[in-house]
Amino acid sequence: KDNLLRLSDYVYVLSENTVKGQRVPVYFYLSDKLFEHLEEDAIRQAANAATLPGVEKAIYVMPDVHVGYGFPVGGVMGVNTDEGVISPGSIGYDINCGVRLIATHLSEERIKPIRQELMKEILSKVPAGVGSTGRLKLSKEQLKEVAIKGARWAVEHGFGLEEDLLHIESSGTLANADPDKVSNFAYERGSEELGTVGSGNHFVEVQTVDEIYDEQIAKRLGLGKGQITIMVHSGSRGFGHQVCVDYLKVAKDALEKYRIEIPDMQLACMPFKSKEGQDYFKAMNAAANYAFANRQILGFITADVIRRFLGISWEELGYRVIYDLAHNIGKIEKYTIDGKDKELLIHRKGATRAFPPYNPDVPPAYRDIGQPVLIPGDVGRYSFLLVGTHKSMEISFGSACHGAGRLMSRTKAKEYVKREGIEKVLEGLVVVARGKGTVMEEVPQAYKDVTEVVRVVHELGIAKLVARFKPLGTLKG
Ligand code: 5GP
Ligand code: MN
Ligand code: MN
Repeated sequence: KDNLLRLSDYVYVLSENTVKGQRVPVYFYLSDKLFEHLEEDAIRQAANAATLPGVEKAIYVMPDVHVGYGFPVGGVMGVNTDEGVISPGSIGYDINCGVRLIATHLSEERIKPIRQELMKEILSKVPAGVGSTGRLKLSKEQLKEVAIKGARWAVEHGFGLEEDLLHIESSGTLANADPDKVSNFAYERGSEELGTVGSGNHFVEVQTVDEIYDEQIAKRLGLGKGQITIMVHSGSRGFGHQVCVDYLKVAKDALEKYRIEIPDMQLACMPFKSKEGQDYFKAMNAAANYAFANRQILGFITADVIRRFLGISWEELGYRVIYDLAHNIGKIEKYTIDGKDKELLIHRKGATRAFPPYNPDVPPAYRDIGQPVLIPGDVGRYSFLLVGTHKSMEISFGSACHGAGRLMSRTKAKEYVKREGIEKVLEGLVVVARGKGTVMEEVPQAYKDVTEVVRVVHELGIAKLVARFKPLGTLKG
């Protein structure tokens, strides 16, 4: 921390050449309060990444930062696709972990009194938990189709509407996927997990819109106070996890071959243009498509469970996907750096895209308002919706934070809950889960204050606040 220079209220920098081999500066976007939470190891991890071959411009660290595997969660890195590397650890184990927000026509008054029963119903009908299995059991051939088509596969199989696809990052289908680059073991692990929530940090949440910051944009998104929304947070389950495991090994084995020196084995990487790099990139996109399909199914079955529980029609429910985004992914994007147009592989790990209005990668439905940025907070406090702004393209490779970020380790959180008592910690909240253990690790106090995190993002101008959501009930993995 002593090496960090405070440039302004929300910007700290670790200048070039502070650590050996550092090629670019590292910017940390933090308020004074969040600076206190910044771990020395997270600084070291971000600085290590700044030494990787082909890294361009700067490493950016979001206000929800915490230590991750090799690269911090909340980190954004851009690497030149010609001379640079691709780093599985800097994308993360849960490839295309992400968030989906669904709007309904339901009102808070209707749901709040029955939320306990409703969440019990969701618990019994929506598969959740480590290694939980869903309604689908897919063969390798079927999974290959999922890996190519992503969310479209789910829609074609009755999980959702064609128009859902118009409101998903990259339409829920990534073109660079090659299912033949995925191992048999990944197919085995993924065969029964499509349409499942997964472990502790993942969730399905019934929320109510409780604050509007930008009336005009909220209206465009069809959001108003007291409206019920559904938020889904899940990723590529065992399928994507295995892809990461497999290619970390490939990367470690390839270090010598390509004479890449790294300060931490967890940053094992391979030249993007190499056979190994391309294989991982294609497998990673296949896993990302699995995750898009997973959230498509989860969101739709949750809406269906709510609809049946209330005994109403789809019209009355008003199911509508607002947006779905990835927060662990590598994407090819173009930026102008020092007057030169460059193609970069942007690694976002625990960071979302936050593309501005009129960016061609923002779905036409939202082109004039900017890309929706979905920021979950925790089971007890709030979650937020923002939209991307032009400044993000200048100071964060078009990115923003992805959540509140962990404050306590899982072990620390458990100790805290044991000390305070679970009833007191979760007082007034409706949280359902198959296991008690995960809930203890996931109490609000285990996370940073999301309000402070999104305030930094808003004040920096990389995304603009639109609406706030309060949880009525949460199904935890
Ligand atoms: P991650 O992908 O890093 O595990 O989680 C993303 C973010 O989701 C976390 O940083 C945290 O702020 C948020 N989060 C975790 N659990 C919950 C939950 O149950 N409800 C809501 N609304 N947010 C959560
Ligand atoms: Mn996630
Ligand atoms: Mn995840």
